[in-house]
Amino acid sequence: MNTQKVRVVIIGSGPAGLTAALYTARAQLSTVVITGKQLGGQIATTHEVENFPGFPDGTTGPELVEAMRAQAEKFGAQFAYDLVTEVDFEHGTPFLVKTDSGDQYLADTVIVTIGANPRELGVPGERKFVGRGVSYCATCDGFFFRNKDITVIGGGDSALQEAIFLTKFGKTVNVIHRRDELRADISLQKRAFADPKISFTWDTVVDEVIGSDKGIVQALKLRNVKTGEVSEKPTDGMFVFIGYDPNSGIFKGQLATDENGYVLIDQLMRTNVEGVYAAGEIHDSIFRQAITASGQGCAAALIAIKWLQDREDQLQPLETNAVAAGD
Ligand code: NAP
Repeated sequence: MNTQKVRVVIIGSGPAGLTAALYTARAQLSTVVITGKQLGGQIATTHEVENFPGFPDGTTGPELVEAMRAQAEKFGAQFAYDLVTEVDFEHGTPFLVKTDSGDQYLADTVIVTIGANPRELGVPGERKFVGRGVSYCATCDGFFFRNKDITVIGGGDSALQEAIFLTKFGKTVNVIHRRDELRADISLQKRAFADPKISFTWDTVVDEVIGSDKGIVQALKLRNVKTGEVSEKPTDGMFVFIGYDPNSGIFKGQLATDENGYVLIDQLMRTNVEGVYAAGEIHDSIFRQAITASGQGCAAALIAIKWLQDREDQLQPLETNAVAAGD
């Protein structure tokens, strides 16, 4: 087990974390990004990114993530492909950050950019058939549904964007939405309505995922919320895009959150713990764009840099890097 002392630990590696890393590393501050399970976070599983400025022909999530990672690394950011398991924000700076591998970090500042996870429907059969017809990632699993009948749940940007993507694979894509009006951006709505492979089922929710004897999804039990009518709809796969929940569990009791678990920050990206900042979907339930997350990551980094500069003479030197456990 190693304990590394650094000026900045960034928890999470989505656009917010990678942008924050670029700024703190470029400011000559030793920076470690603890990536989490997936380098790049949610955007890494997005096939088509058309609205990140600088790419007139669009780009892909993985390409964008790799470019951001390389740019931060060029200025000296280090990447730990690890999961944060525990933090100690209660005893002030330097903050202790523990990871799954056993490595731990003592950080003068922490920028929390750990994002959010796809929300589940919470209906019988859903968990049982994850990976066997139930998915939360079209980029990851779309390929397995070539020439199949696909169902998408949700009425927001994610549902429509991924439904359009899934038409590359599926024979048909049926979007089931609990209301008769979509939440998604109007341009996505136009594209989806114009796509001959996409159909919509309105005012309807899924009550159960039904599997075949082979243990794969076969049908969905549906209920029309207006008429109460119950039906069974055959399908080969269900992709769920009904929003996201913030990953704030590991900070419970240490960082203040709202009732939905979003970390509370002030206008300067500061959490309730001095020296700990948050950016991206861990605090933002409104904008949730790669570019807004990047902007927030930049802002959090600038405030962290200023905070460190103001305390330069009080900071401990970093020569004790990689001290053995127990030191
Ligand atoms: P969202 O905007 O919160 O939409 C979630 C959708 O799922 C809504 O239509 C909601 O229905 C439905 N829903 C929620 N809980 C449900 C449940 N238990 N059962 C059935 N349906 C349920 O989430 P999102 O589409 O993931 O988008 C999140 C944010 O990311 C948004 O701000 C969006 O603009 C952004 N985003 C942007 C892009 C892009 O720029 N291209 C792409 C993806 C996402 P109601 O409408 O009835 O509430």
